[in-house]
Amino acid sequence: MIQYPMVDLKGQYNKIKNEVDNAIAEVINQTAFINGPAVKRFQANLEQYLGVKHVIPCGNGTDALQLALMALDLQPGDEVITSTFTFIATAEVIALLKLKPVLVDVYPDTYNINPDAVEAAITDKTKAIIPVHLFGQSAHMNRIMNIAKNHNLYVVEDTAQAIGADYTCPEHHKTKKAGTFGDIGCTSFFPSKNLGAFGDGGAAFTNDNVLAEKLRMLANHGMKVRYYHDYVGVNSRLDSIQAAILDVKLKYLDDYASARLKAAEFYNNAFGNTEEITTPVTAPFTTHVFHQYTMVLNGLDREELMKHLAAKGIASAIYYPVPLHLQKAYRDPRYGQGDFPVAEMLSKKVLSLPMHTELTEEIQQRIVDSVLEFIHQ
Ligand SMILES: *Cc1c(COP(=O)(O)O)cnc(C)c1O
Repeated sequence: MIQYPMVDLKGQYNKIKNEVDNAIAEVINQTAFINGPAVKRFQANLEQYLGVKHVIPCGNGTDALQLALMALDLQPGDEVITSTFTFIATAEVIALLKLKPVLVDVYPDTYNINPDAVEAAITDKTKAIIPVHLFGQSAHMNRIMNIAKNHNLYVVEDTAQAIGADYTCPEHHKTKKAGTFGDIGCTSFFPSKNLGAFGDGGAAFTNDNVLAEKLRMLANHGMKVRYYHDYVGVNSRLDSIQAAILDVKLKYLDDYASARLKAAEFYNNAFGNTEEITTPVTAPFTTHVFHQYTMVLNGLDREELMKHLAAKGIASAIYYPVPLHLQKAYRDPRYGQGDFPVAEMLSKKVLSLPMHTELTEEIQQRIVDSVLEFIHQ
């Protein structure tokens, strides 16, 4: 039986139960289930938190990415560059819209997209870049934005795992939230994300008034005036109950990030002198909100370690076991085994440990001891 799961949503809920229950009850009392006051309130508060002009709430993070690409008016066959080491949603929306996913490798220490590889992948068909802020820290946005500017490309940021992370430009020393550099940022409110709803949810954000209006229309059947459809859109909404819950949790997001960081530092200190483990590295230009605590195992049998932990009631997980270029649905004659050596190495060697807002030092010590016991047995 798993006693120490990857996330502890129940423990987190218990601490804010009254506030959350009241917020849900208010929506039910108002019966404003769709686009009610709670949605507008959450939207405004998230705009302020992110320092961005427009937040467009939608059904989930995958929809946010799809809406973003739809808003940019790309044509079938246009190339969109993204990381091969990410959750499938990032590339899925590119393929669904009949655009061409162009995959590139990542850095071995931060696991984030490598801007040199992005630059090398640009062709005259390239129209956009989707950097992913993987596991909770920002990709190198200054470099990505410079590349985009030089080649006249759009940038859509996948911030599903890094909402709240701060990026400080090494050139201009300005600090902004991850997801607010590109043309459009996208995030997910999937329950286990850092800002998680009690169901599905997502949002796109932008500082561009024209893109904001288009995103809002696309998420609502392409209409601005009811029953007049200017675009072929989709139906993608954040419902009012989810928005009410998220609005409560947004107030605690920075506290949640601190708790995650503290837990990550505990693991880092505990494993710092262990050759068999490479702890995650935070790049100097970003804070890390540790959506996942993901380490690289050196010369250890990952399956056996996972079994050893599970026998002690400790969960562990592999994010991600197969890079996108080796996924069956994304087979492409341009790519094969060996093409993206860093991502392929990571997919074989990474392991994520329990990471959430409710970890105590006692629980973490138990996890650490179990990992070290496996190594030194
Ligand atoms: C979770 C996630 C998504 C998709 O979000 P959903 O709300 O599950 O659709 C997209 N990209 C990344 C990197 C994610 O982690």
